[in-house]
Amino acid sequence: MADYDVIVIGAGPAGLAAAVSAYENGAKRVLVLERNSHPGGILKQCIHDGFGLVNFMVSLTGPEYAMRYTEMLRNTKVEIMLNTMVTRITPEREVSCVTRDGVKIFKAKAIILSTGCRERTRGMIELPGTRPAGILTAGVAQKLINIQNIRFGNKVVILGSGDVGLIMARRMTLEGMEVTCVLEKLPQLTGLLRNKNQCLDDYDIPLRLCQTVVDIQGTDRLERIVAANVDENGCVISGSEYAIDCDTLVLSVGLIPENELAKACGIKLADNGGPIVNDRFETSVEGIFSAGNSLHVHDLADYASQEGTTVGRFAAES
Ligand SMILES: Cc1cc2nc3c(=O)[nH]c(=O)nc-3n(C[C@H](O)[C@H](O)[C@H](O)COP(=O)(O)OP(=O)(O)OC[C@H]3O[C@@H](n4cnc5c(N)ncnc54)[C@H](O)[C@@H]3O)c2cc1C
Repeated sequence: MADYDVIVIGAGPAGLAAAVSAYENGAKRVLVLERNSHPGGILKQCIHDGFGLVNFMVSLTGPEYAMRYTEMLRNTKVEIMLNTMVTRITPEREVSCVTRDGVKIFKAKAIILSTGCRERTRGMIELPGTRPAGILTAGVAQKLINIQNIRFGNKVVILGSGDVGLIMARRMTLEGMEVTCVLEKLPQLTGLLRNKNQCLDDYDIPLRLCQTVVDIQGTDRLERIVAANVDENGCVISGSEYAIDCDTLVLSVGLIPENELAKACGIKLADNGGPIVNDRFETSVEGIFSAGNSLHVHDLADYASQEGTTVGRFAAES
């Protein structure tokens, strides 16, 4: 068991910024634990630009933005362990993880949880219908195209107007797929206006507000979805149903803070799924802090990094 001043779990924009800040604010032994083979979190699959406008006043791709923080980390004595999955933390601030060399346990004076978020799935929004292939979340679609170079369909409907879905509407169009429309249950867009302008309007992809999917049809592969209008209470308006032929349905229906470790440790969670924190971002368990999308979902990676910087300082001071 090795001792550290601060252990950061997750090397996304929030975790990298938190580790640099903890070090710069006096924590001598700082360790970052990351389950993936590279630092950068979800940004490795975000190859579009628009990152860094707030923090660096320049438009970077996701990997370029992540690289800036990785470089900052390299200029410190912070240690980073990749391919390392944290499986348990305790209120005594012991951190258990699985590495390629077996299980390791570390002890920290402070822990920062920066484990990111998860996407809402079909099951979570209770979409009715059959269970054919061709239904995937926007983040999975992004990973398949941008990292694995796999084109997974031809004719697509997107459900939900969250930012990841909007960005994927453009990306799939550029890959030669036909994006029929984006359906949004609410009367307004849920993502950023700039993403609607740049990713839907520029490619003539219609956004249909107050509409949802009420049926999924197909046996092996998705063949069509049935859409319908909803009223101001979100209830389906009977008689408004219409079918759209498609082989792919991409879900962009929300992100939820990822907090399995916090929950198992007894940390109190808020209704959004993130830990309840005080004004120093400390959770209900002393010495355990939270930053980034695992605390609450941020619109921009820049804001997640800024929060990481703040939380790194509080952790070092503690
Ligand atoms: C699919 C998707 C696409 C997005 N696209 C954009 C975009 O285009 N622009 C934008 O500004 N924002 C985008 N976001 C929002 C984005 O999540 C934030 O902007 C930013 O990446 C949040 O940073 P983070 O460090 O909190 O989380 P993340 O970037 O998600 O990093 C969390 C890290 O924690 C690691 N981790 C989690 N659990 C463990 C564990 N138990 N052990 C070890 N490591 C662990 C993960 O592997 C990951 O590397 C997107 C989000 C998603 C989900």
